[in-house]
Amino acid sequence: MKKVFVIIIVLFSIVSCNKTDQKVAAKISQPKSKKIEFGFNYADFNVVQDTIKKGDSFGTIIQSQNIGDKKVYDIVAQVKDTFDVRSIRYNKPYTILRSKNKTNKLEYFIYQPDALTYYVINFKDSIATSFKKIKPVTLKRKIIGGVLKSSLSETLGNESVEAALANRITKVFSWSIDFFKLKKGDRYGLIFTERFINGKTYDGVEDLQAAFFEYKGKIIYAFPFEKDSLSGKIEYYDDEGKTLKNFFLKTPIKFSRITSRFTMNRFHPVQHRWKAHKGTDYAAPRGTPISTTASGVVEQTGYTAGNGNFVKVKHNGTYSTQYLHMSRILVRRGQRVTQGQKIGLVGSTGLASGPHVCYRFWKNGMQVDALRLNLPTGESLTGNAKERFLKQMEPLKRELDSIGNL
Ligand SMILES: [Zn+2]
Repeated sequence: MKKVFVIIIVLFSIVSCNKTDQKVAAKISQPKSKKIEFGFNYADFNVVQDTIKKGDSFGTIIQSQNIGDKKVYDIVAQVKDTFDVRSIRYNKPYTILRSKNKTNKLEYFIYQPDALTYYVINFKDSIATSFKKIKPVTLKRKIIGGVLKSSLSETLGNESVEAALANRITKVFSWSIDFFKLKKGDRYGLIFTERFINGKTYDGVEDLQAAFFEYKGKIIYAFPFEKDSLSGKIEYYDDEGKTLKNFFLKTPIKFSRITSRFTMNRFHPVQHRWKAHKGTDYAAPRGTPISTTASGVVEQTGYTAGNGNFVKVKHNGTYSTQYLHMSRILVRRGQRVTQGQKIGLVGSTGLASGPHVCYRFWKNGMQVDALRLNLPTGESLTGNAKERFLKQMEPLKRELDSIGNL
């Protein structure tokens, strides 16, 4: 779990409303007089900040600083062991520091291949030298939670939780929670860490350490755990060490609502007669991605007057799922698809009164009600692994449980 950086300082903080507006700095900015960066005080230099343009090379940039061809060639050779000039890439930022006196001599070239790393090439001495540095990363721990005051996405938005974390949460809980069904007043809690470069520049979410959601009156926990240190694979488990993954995703669409359930007798909204409805309808705006609820092979795609554009996926010898009324089909017959993969877009082709996906579930060749199936569940932790997990999980669970008391 622990990533090794040059310096890792874990700061503990309990925050309910955090603003992290800083983005990874790659902008050209007018240097302020007191600014210190890369270990240089900008006040001591004439500073040029720019990004690598199309057609730029280290040579062309340096040449434009009034250094002759021969000199560029020498510099490239002198620094080649510590800085490969061919490694510079389009759009990456660089900084040039020139002496402030009348000579305005080129003294340093600083290149940043990513937000963390930078190279300094020193031209001050007769032989150029260079070195690479990695900025220290600080991890800041955040605990947020409480009661949902609006929808989950709005609540997370208000807490400045970035989309990447929201996506991770949706993925971790996708087997156990239909996020659309979370209501105002349901409780939730999240513990995660964020990376900051040099202690101040926000660099994204590092990991989700623990989470819970109250769903239909029940608390569902999620804790990451590495069962097998060889594979290094992290899976999420509940507070009893049961995997949060089931064989099928709950729904083929994120944030959707059920408009019609599986029934042997319903009044058809378009045909206006009583007939069986052997599927579950999820309404969603036209163009919403439809995901296959389990991995498998596309066994059928096509169009019929009733089904409209549809895709059928075979998961194993027992189960297949089918998705109807698509505005667009995004897979081909015979294609292998993985759970959660986008296979089409919501539409209202065929017999449909509005945009929705009709989700049909086949078991041993018979259409069955997906909502009533006792679907197979994944593996749970046992033995040693479970013991290790429980020990690691308990303090985190206590922290989550105390969120309501904040
Ligand atoms: Zn339907």
